[in-house]
Amino acid sequence: MNLPEMFGENVFNDQVQKETLPSEVYKALRATIDAGKRLDTSIAGTVASAMKKWAVSKGATHYTHWFQPLTGLTAEKHDSFIEPEGDKVIMRLTGKSLTVGEADASSFPSGGSRVTYMARGYTAWDPTSPAFVKEGTLYIPTVFVSYTGETLDKKSPLLRSMNAIDKQAKRILALFGRECKKVSTTVGPEQEYFLIDEEEYMRRKDLRLCGRTLFGAPVSRGQELEDHYYGMLKPRIVDFMHDLDKELWSYGVLSKTKHNEVAPAQHEMAPVFGTANIAVDANMLTMEIMKKVAQKHHLACLLHEKPFEGINGSGKHNNWSVSTDDGFNLLNPGDKPEENTLFKLVLAAVIKAVDDYQGILRASVATAGNDHRLGANEAPPAIISVYLGDQLGALVNAIVKGENYVPVKAEKGSIGVPESPIFPKDATDRNRTSPFAFTGNKFEFRMVGSQANVSDANIVLNTIVADAFAKFADELEGTKDIEKAANKIISRELKAHYRIIFNEDGYGPDWEHEAERRGLLNHKNTADAVPVCFEEDNISVFVRQGVYTKGEAIARADIQLENYVKIINIEALTMLEMAKRDIIPAVSDYVANLCTNIAAKLSVNEELPCKGEKQTVTTLSTLNDEVCTLCEKLEGELKAINLSDVRAASQAMAHKIIPVMEDIRARVDKMETLTAADYWPYPTYFDMLYSVNN
Ligand code: ADP
Ligand code: MG
Repeated sequence: MNLPEMFGENVFNDQVQKETLPSEVYKALRATIDAGKRLDTSIAGTVASAMKKWAVSKGATHYTHWFQPLTGLTAEKHDSFIEPEGDKVIMRLTGKSLTVGEADASSFPSGGSRVTYMARGYTAWDPTSPAFVKEGTLYIPTVFVSYTGETLDKKSPLLRSMNAIDKQAKRILALFGRECKKVSTTVGPEQEYFLIDEEEYMRRKDLRLCGRTLFGAPVSRGQELEDHYYGMLKPRIVDFMHDLDKELWSYGVLSKTKHNEVAPAQHEMAPVFGTANIAVDANMLTMEIMKKVAQKHHLACLLHEKPFEGINGSGKHNNWSVSTDDGFNLLNPGDKPEENTLFKLVLAAVIKAVDDYQGILRASVATAGNDHRLGANEAPPAIISVYLGDQLGALVNAIVKGENYVPVKAEKGSIGVPESPIFPKDATDRNRTSPFAFTGNKFEFRMVGSQANVSDANIVLNTIVADAFAKFADELEGTKDIEKAANKIISRELKAHYRIIFNEDGYGPDWEHEAERRGLLNHKNTADAVPVCFEEDNISVFVRQGVYTKGEAIARADIQLENYVKIINIEALTMLEMAKRDIIPAVSDYVANLCTNIAAKLSVNEELPCKGEKQTVTTLSTLNDEVCTLCEKLEGELKAINLSDVRAASQAMAHKIIPVMEDIRARVDKMETLTAADYWPYPTYFDMLYSVNN
């Protein structure tokens, strides 16, 4: 394999554009991509025809507008290139077909933002994310909007939020005498996932329908030995990762790092970061390809945040920064951050934004799946706070207290053996427990769920930081002594938002109390986290930055609740189906078998000991009966919920349904440990976690 040659071979990237487009068309297209100039639609025909020719040479027969509706997944509808000409057909892609498509939108969630009789939706080309050929189809990244212009997807608001950052960051940069063509946010999402054997997967209804196990007793060996983390990769996993990399590279995805994660069967892939919009598309593609490549290897790739109870779940660390087109990173502190007023101002803006809008930032990662992970002592708590590390922490403390800053210098490290190299020690240590940590020249937002579309988190981040930039720029523009005025703002804002900074262990119970004392929000589940999105202040920030209209903001929060309600409903129904049709009968059979054995023993000799068997019969019968009763209760509670009233329904799901489901699970898991293996209807945690990975 010649990696540099095959990298991006399926992508209509800059190089291919340069080779296949007339130079003025190429220049016009790049002006849109690189400098954010409005797309000159007169070039669409030429681009379309070059794109088609290239795609056909890669074996494509179809094209699709590829978009990201509010289901959280991607959507595609394939059209072939053929057009009749006499008795024959020709292959064609017109400029219009490239730029605009129609997609019946009535089956996608819209949160009531579209009038129901108007099912029309449009997809429109996003030239900033490159098209690619996959499995005989040309994929054209697009936005998805309604007939009346409301956004129905995750890409359009992301682009709008990037636009807001571009506009507001440029104002800040101009104050410090920096010019540039474009400011973008950059994102590097680290993707965690589980791999298990396909055979086991197929036998678990819960994994197939819900993506996570609804039942399952813990294994005797979980992750306590910590031997899986960075452990040697097993041959089947190596083969999978090798294939995955090859596929990802062919689509221009910069897959960089791979390793085993903390939990057994858990792994991670980290890409090289890119512009937010492209990074999101690449991550959506990555998740899809992970599943497909896994299938080829007779594995199942689990992207759910918590496939297995009792062992670590999966997240997606969203590394985020802001950079100019010529590579200037606004979050780079430089050697002397204390003298770097621009950096300090940007830092103050981020801190202010995160504190002011902690509610919507928390809500942006709220899903039924992620609820199992946040705050479970394996992932950041549900409380938003900012970790700055030793160096910046000391700097901010000094500013807030009005003291002199004594620089924390990076030391040189060595293992103390003359032959070993000297390595530079970072001035900032790691704090894995923080939800929002400064790591060198970027922030790492660690609350994002593993199966999430990372747009959600980045839309909020971009919007709230753009808004803080705007406020600072409003204040600073026209002032004579920018340095002085900026430092005044820095000190004022850091003081005002000091409560959001937390440089210690976020896993401990002490933090919850301390956070409450500081007045920070602590929303433990989606039903309780999302309603802040209906608050006036939290809507107006989107409206001010041109990211959402009021209607869009409300519709999106309702859709988020609707998704939550639907997921819990499916989980509850799946649980009932598994319990009633498989588990309760299996336990009953086993109990009957035990009883037969006991009777047989006693018929031979009434004195034969069978205390243990009798005890098991009693315990299992009691538990099985309780499960029956709880199932009836769950059914009753479910029936009482009006699913179309999503706000009320989400509360009922969180506070009525989930507790009953937990009660059922606790009993079933207990029964699993008491029932003979032959009788248990499903693969166990041991079967699933250690079949491929041991
Ligand atoms: P760390 O060791 O701090 O986690 P890495 O270099 O391993 O940093 O990077 C982790 C992730 O962060 C990678 O996906 C990387 O591409 C991404 N990343 C690095 N720099 C930036 C940046 N400026 N903006 C966004 N993401 C970044
Ligand atoms: Mg990291």
